[in-house]
Amino acid sequence: MSTIHQILKKHWGYSDFRPQQESIINAILGGNDTLALLPTGGGKSICFQVPAMALDGICIVVSPLVALMKDQVQNLTKVGIKAAAIYSGLSKREIDITLDNCIYGKVKFLYVSPERLQTEIFQVRLSKMQVAFVAVDEAHCISQWGYDFRPPYLQIAQLREIIPDIRFLALTASATPAVEADIIQKLEFKEGYKTFRKSFDRPNVVYAVTESEDKQSRILYALQKTKGSAIIYVRNRRQTRHLSNWLKTEGYSADFYHAGLTNADRQLKQDLWIRGKIQIIVCTNAFGMGIDKPNVRLVIHYELPDSLEAYYQEAGRAGRDGIKSFAIAVTNPADRSSLQQWANSQIPDNETIRKVYNALGNYLQIPLGSGKDTSKPFDIIGFSNHFDIKPALALNAIKTLHQQGVVELSDSFFNPSKVVMKQSNEALYKFMVANKNLEPFIKAILRTSVGVFDQFVAIKENAVAKLTGTTSQEVVKVLNRLNQLDILVYEQAKETAFISFLQNREESKYLQINKTLLEQRRNLIIEKAKKVIEFAQATSCRSKIMLNYFGELLKRDCGHCDVCLEAIKAKKPSEIQKEIEQLFNQRLEIEVEEFKLLVNVGNTKVRNVIKYMVDQGELLHTNGVFKLVR
Ligand code: ADP
Repeated sequence: MSTIHQILKKHWGYSDFRPQQESIINAILGGNDTLALLPTGGGKSICFQVPAMALDGICIVVSPLVALMKDQVQNLTKVGIKAAAIYSGLSKREIDITLDNCIYGKVKFLYVSPERLQTEIFQVRLSKMQVAFVAVDEAHCISQWGYDFRPPYLQIAQLREIIPDIRFLALTASATPAVEADIIQKLEFKEGYKTFRKSFDRPNVVYAVTESEDKQSRILYALQKTKGSAIIYVRNRRQTRHLSNWLKTEGYSADFYHAGLTNADRQLKQDLWIRGKIQIIVCTNAFGMGIDKPNVRLVIHYELPDSLEAYYQEAGRAGRDGIKSFAIAVTNPADRSSLQQWANSQIPDNETIRKVYNALGNYLQIPLGSGKDTSKPFDIIGFSNHFDIKPALALNAIKTLHQQGVVELSDSFFNPSKVVMKQSNEALYKFMVANKNLEPFIKAILRTSVGVFDQFVAIKENAVAKLTGTTSQEVVKVLNRLNQLDILVYEQAKETAFISFLQNREESKYLQINKTLLEQRRNLIIEKAKKVIEFAQATSCRSKIMLNYFGELLKRDCGHCDVCLEAIKAKKPSEIQKEIEQLFNQRLEIEVEEFKLLVNVGNTKVRNVIKYMVDQGELLHTNGVFKLVR
């Protein structure tokens, strides 16, 4: 068995672990249930990937987002590790083959959505697998107190019935103390479990909230003061384009990003921004997942986010390299009341929920009394138009049904083009003889898509175009034609979400709605929005408030958020001097590092006072300590 350091070096090329990673890995290797709370960018993936490589058997990774799963599978495959994922939207056959590969040890990491864990096919196969441990990613989803509660997460602990000696490694970047306790309880952590928490403090990120009716001029001001890569978060898609165009007319390099763009477009915009070819990206909260750009200097919230969890995540994209960076929210009373209204409208009334439930049943063409595990590509706009329900309302109702465990709505993710042959080899040969002009295409398809006679395989239109000396558009046309001629089945690449029924359909009037859960969600959403507004209107250190929210105590004021700066500005130098003198009331000397923490040494005014005191001989700075001369 290689040591964990060797594994880290061999597969990921890193020489050292980041803080907490090694302890987390050793805890899980030691056989303990483990909870890891690391802020985004802390390196959670390594925490389960390295120990899995050190152990025999497969690592099951529960993850709520299909896009994220696909990303991780790709990354592991790149470093030569076998990984697979199952999620709604895959065909039964694909799931079947993948699970078989897991049993026969051909897969080291199996990513699975929590909804899939409950399916019979998964549970039967799981009992035959040799499981190293289960990693529960985004573990805050298990808690009703989390901002992203997903009821199927509650069933994860039932895996213990199938594999009694299983251990869990739960990971999250977002846990208030209530959520933390809930994770431990709901995953039924065994005695001796371990919890690791890396501080959420980001001393180089300066929080500031600006009150303004003229938000655009505040943005310009911020951009003039802080050069470098920037992100501007807004709450709706239209606004992203609007602001980005306006910034361009102001002479800035900007672009916009939201979930409604095609996968290719989003990829392109993201790449250009990461490489610094575009300075500012104006986006909805769809931007940022999995992005690890170190030198973001400025994150502006043009509108307030829904929760402090979201704010911390988004603002936290600033200054990953440790260099001073700014997180600025621009707000005004209208803004705050629209956040409140948003929060109040998130859970629709029961009548709407039932109406949407019924419409979904019709949309999926499910007869009453059946339909469990039926799944279909889902387009919210098409659905809303067809049933004449406002898209936002329909989506909220579906989210509520998801929360209630009635349906599953996956995030939308990219499905590459796929193809499967419908004709035998001989029939195909005859077809080619009769259709000479199509022969080179068919040969190219057979060459690039190995295994195409047995099952759906991915096809790259541009690879076929290269072999046939044509264009991708031409290849798409030919594939559609072959599809029509019943030679093959062609499914063109698309970005889709999937909706599934998790229970058999029943008459909507009999649908059980858990009222307590509904009320709890409603209150929680309102409460979270309230906390954001409180943060925006705070009159004490913002870093302290943020950390306090995540259950951490910051001993001192940060000294650099807007509130701290204002407070220091209002102070006379003599007051600052008095505060410094008071620090020495209890002791004779203070070590330099601690002294820096206790006073707001980042502030020029404070530094000037210290310098004055040193020059006057009132403060001695020797041998790594400060002493007060009385
Ligand atoms: P998280 O899920 O906590 O946001 P990731 O697992 O995506 O973080 O890791 C963030 C980045 O840090 C990735 O690019 C990852 O490769 C890198 N990383 C993780 N651990 C280390 C390490 N020990 N040394 C260097 N880079 C690391």
